[in-house]
Amino acid sequence: MTEQSTPRVPVVAMDGPGGSGKGTVSTAVARHFGWHYLDSGAIYRVLGHLAHMNQVREDDVPGLVALTHDLDIEFLEQGIALAGQNVEGLIRTEGAADRASRISPIPEVRHSLLEWQRKQARPPGLVSDGRDMGSVVFPDAVCKFFITASPEKRAERRYKQLREKGFDVKIENLLREIAERDERDAMRKASPLKPAEDATVIDTTDMSINDVISVVLEEVGRCLKIS
Ligand code: C5P
Repeated sequence: MTEQSTPRVPVVAMDGPGGSGKGTVSTAVARHFGWHYLDSGAIYRVLGHLAHMNQVREDDVPGLVALTHDLDIEFLEQGIALAGQNVEGLIRTEGAADRASRISPIPEVRHSLLEWQRKQARPPGLVSDGRDMGSVVFPDAVCKFFITASPEKRAERRYKQLREKGFDVKIENLLREIAERDERDAMRKASPLKPAEDATVIDTTDMSINDVISVVLEEVGRCLKIS
């Protein structure tokens, strides 16, 4: 397996920390162009869930890699299916996010998920959302973004999302957990959370989601013209 990708179809890489708005923006861009959407964070969340269910420990590298070989995942209109079962509710909890960020630093796990992720680049195009889409998975992406926002704003957005889904959460806890995950994601050796050199960085702290979508769509249009 090589570290280089050769996408035959246009890929937009949308990286950034959780709660930055990148998921909403990515789905809007994918819908606008009629492209596929890869939520790579969901893959790490599903893997964390599977490890938990199978009692595979976070330090059992061969055990975790073995789980990546049998990932039977399908993105649905609403959520994500694992072996035909919608696990969206199970993987969107803060516990699942925490498990994902504990196994995602393992280079063998990341490497094992590379080809699967690259295969999602199918015609007519792909919007890929994650931490290392522009830097590692799709280095040849036609357009790369790094979407960010202050930790306080991200905690506030997560709080609203989770409350709407009926979860009983406290904003102080979310802020602490977000800070811990940011630290783990940014400090790890394998694919740390940082903008690709050629990424357009957008700070969404004081922007409405519609404004972010407009800015991104305009930039993608520009990238596609020159690609
Ligand atoms: O984006 P989301 O919050 O769903 O990601 C959950 C966790 O999965 C992140 O905190 C990060 O540790 C990991 N992740 C990653 N690489 C990606 C996407 C997510 O390491 N491309």
